[in-house]
Amino acid sequence: MPCTPDHWHDMSMLDECHECTLCQRACPTGAIPDDRFLLRAERCIAFHNEHERDFPDWLRPEWHNALVGCMLCQKVCPVNKPVVDWIEDTCEFSEKETTQIIDQVSTERFSAGTLEKLKNKHFEVSISTLGRNLKALMIEKGIVNDRPSSDSQ
Ligand code: SF4
Ligand code: SF4
Repeated sequence: MPCTPDHWHDMSMLDECHECTLCQRACPTGAIPDDRFLLRAERCIAFHNEHERDFPDWLRPEWHNALVGCMLCQKVCPVNKPVVDWIEDTCEFSEKETTQIIDQVSTERFSAGTLEKLKNKHFEVSISTLGRNLKALMIEKGIVNDRPSSDSQ
């Protein structure tokens, strides 16, 4: 859609970036190259865990660090320091709900309350990616070896 140009200012690199490579060194996948400014999006964990398709073989399990996206380069950035702890606990899922999410059950099987929570977090449109990502994180953190079936709940 055409839109009215409304740039806040010309594009520019942060002053802090000129002498800093923290994000590049924190990125496990090599998505932040040193030979060009643009990220290699195809190497970014966020690119892969926001899609439904299988994770690529080169994406090591221990690199998973977020339910959706990846925060490794954000957390180390000195410019983010004042805001990096702006985290809120806004909802909680029971063991049964968590198991249903991991099992990627159809939305009809969620209770109205669970669906409401998922909708509030805008997760209801991507239950399958949410379940896959959560399972990958829980296995990586040693919380589960493999997931229990929601049928047993
Ligand atoms: S960590 Fe932050 S300040 Fe450092 S290069 Fe990356 S974006 Fe720039
Ligand atoms: S979000 Fe993660 S994978 Fe993507 S560039 Fe940052 S550290 Fe690398």
